[in-house]
Amino acid sequence: MKFEAVKWQDDIISSIRYSILNNSLGHAMLLCGQKDECFKLANAVADAILCEGKDASFCGSCPSCVKLNAGSHPDKIVVTPKKASMGVEEIRDFSANVYIKPYFGGRKIYIFKDADKLTVAAQNALLKLLEAPPSYVLIIMITPKEEDLLPTVLSRLIKYTLKLPSWQQVLQYLSEKYPEKKEMAAFCARFCDGNPIGAEQLLKENGFFDKRKRLLIFLGKLTKNEKSAVFDFANYLTDDKDNFEENLGFIFAILRDCVMLNANLGEKAVINSDLCKELTALSKRVTNTKIDRVIKEFSMANENIKKNASFALTVTNTLLSVWEEIHD
Ligand SMILES: [Zn+2]
Repeated sequence: MKFEAVKWQDDIISSIRYSILNNSLGHAMLLCGQKDECFKLANAVADAILCEGKDASFCGSCPSCVKLNAGSHPDKIVVTPKKASMGVEEIRDFSANVYIKPYFGGRKIYIFKDADKLTVAAQNALLKLLEAPPSYVLIIMITPKEEDLLPTVLSRLIKYTLKLPSWQQVLQYLSEKYPEKKEMAAFCARFCDGNPIGAEQLLKENGFFDKRKRLLIFLGKLTKNEKSAVFDFANYLTDDKDNFEENLGFIFAILRDCVMLNANLGEKAVINSDLCKELTALSKRVTNTKIDRVIKEFSMANENIKKNASFALTVTNTLLSVWEEIHD
């Protein structure tokens, strides 16, 4: 994999490439952040080191790169847990493997894809090896956050924390990749602020864009004097109860937008930027104090549903309370 496949991490990549070229990369590093992105970077690092070229990048055509492309390079090993966690037993297997010299070239690279799943005992069992592994070894650990590892393990790793892109960067990326979905991309990038993978997944989902509009219409009806809207809304949410958390996310995004508009922060502060007209109308009918209470009601409903309360009953009662709050 080429470094170019890893987005938004130019500073880290230049620093790592510089270290590879100067032979100062050390023998153990930690990549911290969104796991899939960290894994991409770990692969790019491994491939740059194992490539037979001399410029710290994956050339794609040397015998080593051909093997890497085919996923059959014996000196790049991805270590994954066999069960929910990774224990001492697996570290023993790993330690035995480490002392087998590389098959090609000079290095052997281990990527711990889920280092956060190492048990405390397993981490302790790794300490010695992390302190002084054979010179040809590079261990790359991946965790969402550094607190996932013991301080004694951390102190033996060179740490790189992957940066989250801004929503504007995510929007640019999505707009280039899906030019036909620009309007939706604007929503996804802001709705999943700082989470490019979530934003892209949402963009690929069918129907979410209209779903959000429907929820806005229901909320609009609630703020008018139509009490029957409570039951229509409750039925709608109940029919789609498997997606309640997602619906709730959309509802919160709509309410948040109303708060922004009521605070006169302007349309630029709005997540549902394609619905500004409708949102402005809605926000005029509810004060921010009331929106706060409505958000609390919905959050409480979510907690109760997680505790196995009856869905239909909880949602109906919540919407009745919401209606009372708004028309108080
Ligand atoms: Zn190569």
